[in-house]
Amino acid sequence: MTMAEGDLDTQGWQVLDRAHYLHPFTDHAGLRQTGSRVAVRGEGIYVWDTEGKRIIDGLSGLGCVNIGYGRRELVTAAAEQMLELSYCQSFFKTTHRTAVRLAEKLTSMLPGHLNHVFFQSSGSEANETATRLARRYWDLEGKPGKKLFIARELAYHGSTHMAASLSGIPPMHYAGGDIPLSNVHHIRTAYQYRHGAGMDAAEFGVVAAGWLEEKILELGADNVAAFIAEPAQSAGGALCPPETYWPEIQRICRKYDVLLIADEVVMGFGRTGKWFGLYKYGIEPDIMQLGKGITSGYLPLSATVIGDRVADTLIDKGGEWAHGYTYSGHPTCCAVALENIRILDEEKIIENADATLVPLFKAGIESFADHPLIGDARCVGLMGGLEIVKDKKTRESYAYEAHIGDHCSAEALKRGLAFRANGDTMSLMPPLITTPDQLAEIFAIAREALDATAKHFGVTA
Ligand code: PMP
Repeated sequence: MTMAEGDLDTQGWQVLDRAHYLHPFTDHAGLRQTGSRVAVRGEGIYVWDTEGKRIIDGLSGLGCVNIGYGRRELVTAAAEQMLELSYCQSFFKTTHRTAVRLAEKLTSMLPGHLNHVFFQSSGSEANETATRLARRYWDLEGKPGKKLFIARELAYHGSTHMAASLSGIPPMHYAGGDIPLSNVHHIRTAYQYRHGAGMDAAEFGVVAAGWLEEKILELGADNVAAFIAEPAQSAGGALCPPETYWPEIQRICRKYDVLLIADEVVMGFGRTGKWFGLYKYGIEPDIMQLGKGITSGYLPLSATVIGDRVADTLIDKGGEWAHGYTYSGHPTCCAVALENIRILDEEKIIENADATLVPLFKAGIESFADHPLIGDARCVGLMGGLEIVKDKKTRESYAYEAHIGDHCSAEALKRGLAFRANGDTMSLMPPLITTPDQLAEIFAIAREALDATAKHFGVTA
């Protein structure tokens, strides 16, 4: 049965949604009780729903709509590409100009050793490519024993079997699903509030990097293929490493001949205030993954960028590498990425955000340090986290069952702000085109939501 869309009100859509649409990372029984918000339109940093309510997207969708909603140039780029060449496979000695242009463009923006690009549709798939490639590299180098991957607790790398295994988020791991796969090991992450109390930041960075060395020694360097990490962790709760962390990680990977894989699916394209997180932290990865912001979320596309060391081996010694996707290098997605990058570049959106918005964002985030609910206020670039605690002195968290983060998120939504709870850390990742006035409004609503949450939980200053 089909229904004329014009006949449906919010409830009508919710009924259809419940009946047929299974959502990602959702408790569907819970959703049945509340129903979904039904989004209809986006413009700039705003999204409107079927009730006509305007919501500030403080999360850039899922950390992807960096350029904001409704840019017509991206629509035109997609339409023109579709009319010219709507699809092209790249498997059988065929290529097309848009994917070549994008691969060349990306490598021109990255450090000199990153010269090759493999395309997929999602961040999860990019991580599959990166890890399959690392295994392939060591096989071809005559070290097939280097099979293990080291990732970090609280990491999020995606939802396919390998990407979910690399992720360090406990609900994603369960024995029945054999996740994490047995070749993945996790170390503690650079989460100073929880793992480095009392240390100064520089000292903590070196200690935290040392957990990688310990794990490599425990597993045996001859068994470890790669270490994979985000420059700063987004879904884990805006976990930003001290400046001493990455140089030390880099040194350890080199010392033990372990490949370094940087997952820049969220950090890439401006989230840290730089074009890529590797420029913010001085990372020199062997492989890096881009996604999300590559098209500002207008179409699904991800890129695995491959350094010369790995690419040369694959090309010179590899023969056929049996890996790829129907939509690798999809022309329309590549055309939109090129146009998105052109706009970011010509309008200096990242440079302007870094110069004007990032300092305001930092001050805004840090202003919450004295809020009675907030134990830690942290940020890098335009990614910030406010960690809710029950006791600021002991740093004790609320019980999971209290769902205090979700409560705060709902309070913010009522007031017109998408403000996400990662566990008990409230996260903000506004679009890079947010104005200072809009940013002030975001922080004002965030404060109201936290105040209302404090009141509900009986917390006073
Ligand atoms: N890596 C990181 C760092 C991510 O945050 C995400 C998604 N949030 C992914 C990979 C997976 O990307 P996708 O959802 O496009 O598969």
